[in-house]
This record gives sequence, structure tokens and C-alpha cells, in this order.
Amino acid sequence: MRTLVIDHPLVTHKLTALRDTATDTATFRSLTAELVTLLAYEATREMRVQPVSVETPVATARGVKLARPVPLIVPVLRAGIGMLDGMTRLLPMADVGFVGLRRDEESLIASTYANRLPADLDGRDTFVLDPMLATGGTLATVISLLAGRGAASVTAICLLAAPEGLRHLEESFAEGPGLTVRVVTAAVDERLNDRGYIVPGLGDAGDRLFGEI
Ligand code: URA
Repeated sequence: MRTLVIDHPLVTHKLTALRDTATDTATFRSLTAELVTLLAYEATREMRVQPVSVETPVATARGVKLARPVPLIVPVLRAGIGMLDGMTRLLPMADVGFVGLRRDEESLIASTYANRLPADLDGRDTFVLDPMLATGGTLATVISLLAGRGAASVTAICLLAAPEGLRHLEESFAEGPGLTVRVVTAAVDERLNDRGYIVPGLGDAGDRLFGEI
């Protein structure tokens, strides 16, 4: 597994505003979309392309287009939905699947309550959207689900990651034949607290995007 922490002034600027308790819901949503687009730019760097030629008004130009099958974007319900706009802005041709996982607040173990994914992901690049990589339990479950359906690569895009979650994924998905796993994030924070929140983090991403329920 590879981890890419995006070190860029715009990324850090937007993340800092997201962390701020004073940032209201509307601003939090639009900043999330902008930050995801920036992270997605790096997360898509290794996407497969095929050569094409086009006619400009002047001459023939050689270029590329994205290879088929088109990528699959998988926002993890609920908070990952807040990242979808920022991602599809960059990859409007992608398909979108959905998974829902609920974290038990006592055990911190995630269980799946919704799954709308194509049955066959053979050879497809997949991008999982989950804002907070905390214990890593949710992402490990989703990555296993996608790998089990044949995905060629799984790139998780997270606003923030905790060292504990990254370790969990590294142990679960050591580089092996057939599947590439990457995590792209704006920062790796200090640690998790005893409630499984990232410290200093930004609080509950779902609540900050959609309100407390
Ligand atoms: N999920 C969140 O929304 N925030 C955290 O800090 C950890 C998990």
C-alpha cells in the first residue's frame, strides 16, 4: 500500500479552514468539494490512458484519452457523499457506486448496511471517498469488497488520516500481485482519541457536512 500526503499551500489552507469550529456548514461543504478536487488531481496521476490522434484546425495532434472501462467512484455513506461533487467535477465520465457502513460507537467496528456496486469490477480503477481515515476498519472493509469483485486498483481519497488507520491498512494490504492500493490525503494527524476521533482532526465529518442526526 502506498500513502500520498499532498503538501501544497492551497490544500493546507482549505484543510485548516475545515478544521476551524467557526466554519459553517455551507462553507464546510464548498471547501470539501474544492479540497477533494485538488486531492483527486494527484490521486488520478496513474490512471490508464490510450493514445489517440485528433485533428486541430492546423494539423494532426497526438494525445491520449482515458482507457476503458471507465473508473468507478465509491463514496462511503454518509460523509463520503459530501466528497462526490468535487470528484465528479474532475472525472465526469466515471460511474458511481455506493456503500454504507456504520461504526459502532463502543467497539468502533464498522458493519455494512448498504451496497450498490457493480458485480464485476474486472480491470477497473476505483476511487473510494471517505473523509476521515480513523481506525481504518471502514476502508479495509470497502477495499476488500472492491478487491473481491476484481478491481485493478483502489485509491482511497481522505481529507485526513490517523497513523493508526494507515498502519491498519498497511498490515491488511501489503503490496501483492493484482491489486494496487493507495491512500491520498491532505494530512496525517497525531493520533486517535479514546472515542476514535482524529486529533486534532476536524470533528465528525458527517455532522459538519450534513448536520447532527
Ligand atoms: N469520523 C469522523 O467523522 N471524525 C473522526 O475524527 C473520526 C472518524
